[in-house]
Amino acid sequence: MNFKSKMQAEHLEISQSPRLIELMAFYMNFSESNHMICYELCIPFSCDLDVSDPEPVLRLVLPSYANLEYNLTCVVCLHTLFHPYALSCVHFFCKPCACSAGSVLIFEGVESASPKMKCPVCGEDGVFGNAVRMTELDLLLKRRFEKQWKERLVEERAKDAN
Ligand SMILES: [Zn+2]
Ligand SMILES: [Zn+2]
Repeated sequence: MNFKSKMQAEHLEISQSPRLIELMAFYMNFSESNHMICYELCIPFSCDLDVSDPEPVLRLVLPSYANLEYNLTCVVCLHTLFHPYALSCVHFFCKPCACSAGSVLIFEGVESASPKMKCPVCGEDGVFGNAVRMTELDLLLKRRFEKQWKERLVEERAKDAN
């Protein structure tokens, strides 16, 4: 692998990392504005989450680099992610949806799913054990979609009570 393709592979890996999304959400939770300028590097980048879009998409705009977009819709329930988890194949699900895909109960936790269980999107197995809980993203979604988020909380609590 030459240097350029190695760099591209690493960029791809970083751009697919749940930690990057957590960092974006962390930043957006911290500041009222969606824009940040790093003066030392002179690279202005911006994060954006448009609540009026039909599907919530988190965007990271890096000048002179491809813009990155992350759809925040859960493919299992087709709603905005709620208590999001990233499986190690970097597919995102609501915690309740990830638990049902992994055949575990909510209180047991996503990570306790059997290594044989497969991701509902890509079909890869062994992806539950190192699932990442995305707390900053959850907080961001709670703030930006407050009404929806609270309705979902009530729904999930009602399910737990049954
Ligand atoms: Zn879901
Ligand atoms: Zn997957």
